[in-house]
Amino acid sequence: MATLVFVEHHEGEPVKGSLGVLGKMAQLGDDVSAVVLGSGVEGMAEAVGRHGASRVFVADDPALEAPLPQPRVDVLAKLVESEGFENVVFGASVLAADVAAGLAARLDAGLNWDLVDLELRGGKLVGKRPALGDSVIAEVGWKAVPRLALIRSGTFEPSESGGSAELTKIPVEIQDFSKQAVMVEQAHEESQGPSIEDADVIVAGGRGLGRPENFSLVEDLAKALGGAVAATRAVVDAGWYPYSTQVGQTGKTVSPKLYIACGISGAIQHKVGMQGSGTIVAINKDPNAPIFEYSDLAVVGDAHEIVPKLTELVKERKGS
Ligand SMILES: Cc1cc2nc3c(=O)[nH]c(=O)nc-3n(C[C@H](O)[C@H](O)[C@H](O)COP(=O)(O)OP(=O)(O)OC[C@H]3O[C@@H](n4cnc5c(N)ncnc54)[C@H](O)[C@@H]3O)c2cc1C
Repeated sequence: MATLVFVEHHEGEPVKGSLGVLGKMAQLGDDVSAVVLGSGVEGMAEAVGRHGASRVFVADDPALEAPLPQPRVDVLAKLVESEGFENVVFGASVLAADVAAGLAARLDAGLNWDLVDLELRGGKLVGKRPALGDSVIAEVGWKAVPRLALIRSGTFEPSESGGSAELTKIPVEIQDFSKQAVMVEQAHEESQGPSIEDADVIVAGGRGLGRPENFSLVEDLAKALGGAVAATRAVVDAGWYPYSTQVGQTGKTVSPKLYIACGISGAIQHKVGMQGSGTIVAINKDPNAPIFEYSDLAVVGDAHEIVPKLTELVKERKGS
């Protein structure tokens, strides 16, 4: 099966989510290609080759500098048709979702989204998609080729296979209607420390912290541990913390080595975003909080008292 993986990039590096998808597809079959689109992106082909692609198609053109979907759809549609790709797989992001939807419309192709796994069964590609509030996994398929798939972010960890890829440069021809949208401004949120997608340690805060100012408790602990801060939807909806830190069904999926949940009840919609963490520690004053059912270490008590003490202990240990 000829598969194409859309490799998204940020600040000159392929993103972890795309490389994870690439590695997964390489495990499933032997004919996996990747495509990188942008301006000044040719240098990324080597890194992409190390993550499982046997061929890397590169469209390097100033017309692809802004992260807009339609110019990418123009290039991808031609590539998929000319090379006869049967599967086109994306690691989910705002841009990838727009590109996948646009490509599905352009090629009249079926798109399955929010997949958390893919497998080959009897020569057929089967997607797995959480449903009913993530309480069941539905198996989904495609009626025709090309099959388009969007994989939930953070699902597959990238791993280097050590291979190298053949580089093919592809022409860029943008349709007039695809030039209608222009990027007016791009801003970056200032942040310190690792992002929640990359962090080995995450300290997450929930409504049990009581007030937005109390997020300083989880921030201090995260800083002491060299980790990142995450939040539940309840606190994001309340405006206590930014959406970019939300973990769960309608936020991000994370898999750090250590996840410390402070004042979080552990609703199923939160669980689905963090259950892949190595060790889960929960601090909650309610001994019956659902989060304790899937924690490795349950600390029953007041987060306002425990978290600062924990931060002090970590600092003492580190001698800082
Ligand atoms: C369609 C849908 C999508 C959703 N998507 C998401 C999502 O992506 N992410 C997400 O997180 N949620 C999501 N939710 C919301 C989810 O159902 C929960 O409402 C939310 O996760 C609860 O957040 P919380 O744990 O911060 O708050 P609460 O459920 O209010 O829990 C607060 C906890 O803090 C404890 N507590 C109180 N005071 C203290 C203290 N002093 N010390 C220690 N513990 C204390 C309480 O015992 C309680 O367990 C979604 C819901 C729906 C319907």
